[in-house]
Amino acid sequence: MSQTNLERPSFLDSNDEPESVTSWNETTQKLRIIVLGSGFAGMSFVKAFNRYATPIHNYVEVMVISRRDYHLFTPLLYQVATGLTDEHHVADPISKKSKKSNYSIFEAEVLSIDFKSKTIMTSIGRLRYDILIIGLGSVSNDFGIKGVAENAIALKTLSDGEKIRNRILESFEKSSMLASSNGLKRTYLTFAIVGGGATGVELAGSVRDYVRQLCGKYYRIDPDETRVILLEASNRLLPGSTTQFAEKCRKDLESAGIEVRTGASVVRVDPIGVVLSDGSRIETSNVFWTAGTKVNPVVAQIPETMVMKKRGRIAVNGYLEVQNVPDVYAIGDNAWITSGSDATTAPPTAASAVQEGEYLGKYVASKLIDKPIQTPFSYNDQGVTLSLGRFSGLSQLPNGIILSGFAGWLMWRLVHLVRISTMRNRLGVMFDWTLSLLHRRIVIRTD
Ligand SMILES: Cc1cc2nc3c(=O)[nH]c(=O)nc-3n(C[C@H](O)[C@H](O)[C@H](O)COP(=O)(O)OP(=O)(O)OC[C@H]3O[C@@H](n4cnc5c(N)ncnc54)[C@H](O)[C@@H]3O)c2cc1C
Repeated sequence: MSQTNLERPSFLDSNDEPESVTSWNETTQKLRIIVLGSGFAGMSFVKAFNRYATPIHNYVEVMVISRRDYHLFTPLLYQVATGLTDEHHVADPISKKSKKSNYSIFEAEVLSIDFKSKTIMTSIGRLRYDILIIGLGSVSNDFGIKGVAENAIALKTLSDGEKIRNRILESFEKSSMLASSNGLKRTYLTFAIVGGGATGVELAGSVRDYVRQLCGKYYRIDPDETRVILLEASNRLLPGSTTQFAEKCRKDLESAGIEVRTGASVVRVDPIGVVLSDGSRIETSNVFWTAGTKVNPVVAQIPETMVMKKRGRIAVNGYLEVQNVPDVYAIGDNAWITSGSDATTAPPTAASAVQEGEYLGKYVASKLIDKPIQTPFSYNDQGVTLSLGRFSGLSQLPNGIILSGFAGWLMWRLVHLVRISTMRNRLGVMFDWTLSLLHRRIVIRTD
């Protein structure tokens, strides 16, 4: 069943209008489940479905359509950007896995979904589905702010991580040729991270460490000539966390030498600076954008007359079914789910996407074997853990207890090591972390 080549597969319909949907037990003798996206949600669905659908494996084909044949472990992306972890250790190849498992993966761009004809349009042609799982994730949001797309670097993909590392090293290289009296030197050595959510906070902490190490070990630059600034538009860091947690985070970042500016809304970015809403300007050639995400364009295209949406995400019921559209489910960042007796909204995080994918894999399998599980999805909050730099972390357990400093840092490392899905990558990351403890980060530019 495994198929990983990129040739046009025989089951693809042409680009013309598709025939009527082939259904269960008629022509193909197989029910086709299409999973859009190979992220946290999509791959968790596939793994759970494989486990629970054993009695019907011969009657079902599961096809994953994704633009990449690897699963990106986004929580470690900021470490790629700051030379802590090798990029190969955060990308988990899935095409290899599919050989042993009961699914196929096709590298293709999903272009649109047509619920009426039960087809999806992809860069390799049109495909029919019997059951559709939408897990395409989100994309970086520049909020239409002038100059962001051209001059800032987002942190969303593997190549974004490399671009940030390249930019930091390039800025050091350029600044090392300039005298301290040259104003441009300061511009090169100022690093602005825009967005004080979890990603921005972790990136800022790690950029601070990286920059210090570059000064001490690789360049003759006084660390006092460098600046790391974290800009957040709202009046506090980590929106969504408790005030106590957010304040502790700010304090820890500031004591590490990071300038934290809240209420600082960016209105323009140019090649050598950032302009804030109060008219002030920060001279910098390094703007890293972690200010937020927006819904995937394929999901954004689906008209609200067809599916109900909340903040662009598809509103699903307790079984993750898209309302009024038969056989379609949405999970991960694409779904808006309120669950539990207190109607908690599942957050757009990897932790939540994994829970949703696992639930749905089990639920769809149970429906197909005619024993549908009755309990709806319920999001289980497992707390939050952040790395703020070398030996510094901040974790809040589900019971509210906060661990900071070394304990918070250790908790972060343990949680993330467990979550990495392959032994190869886990060992790779452990190796990288050991080297970094010896002050050896990756200092090569890949462009
Ligand atoms: C830098 C960063 C750090 C993060 N850190 C954490 C963290 O520490 N903890 C945490 O819980 N969450 C974290 N998150 C959030 C987390 O990554 C997301 O919430 C999670 O990835 C959502 O899972 P998903 O499966 O919905 O989407 P994704 O994991 O983004 O997967 C989407 C999939 O769809 C594919 N795709 C998208 N569009 C198309 C298309 N048009 N055609 C074909 N394929 C397509 C993608 O290639 C990908 O395989 C972080 C996010 C970022 C960006």
